[in-house]
Amino acid sequence: MAKKVRIERDLCIGCGLCAAVMPEVFEMDDEGKAVVHTQPEEGVEVDVANDCPTGAIIVEDED
Ligand code: SF4
Repeated sequence: MAKKVRIERDLCIGCGLCAAVMPEVFEMDDEGKAVVHTQPEEGVEVDVANDCPTGAIIVEDED
């Protein structure tokens, strides 16, 4: 099942980890916050969500 990823923008402290680990999904914007530019491909786990220091990466199953 595909995962849908989003960033809780208020929680992101701009550490850059997610964009460094998964540049195919995340990038840093002009304000130094992470954004999702492309949803992960089917079957790809977004393990970096567990490593985000503030829990700002939300991964949900797509309906
Ligand atoms: S890992 Fe978390 S805090 Fe760091 S840039 Fe990504 S969303 Fe923001």
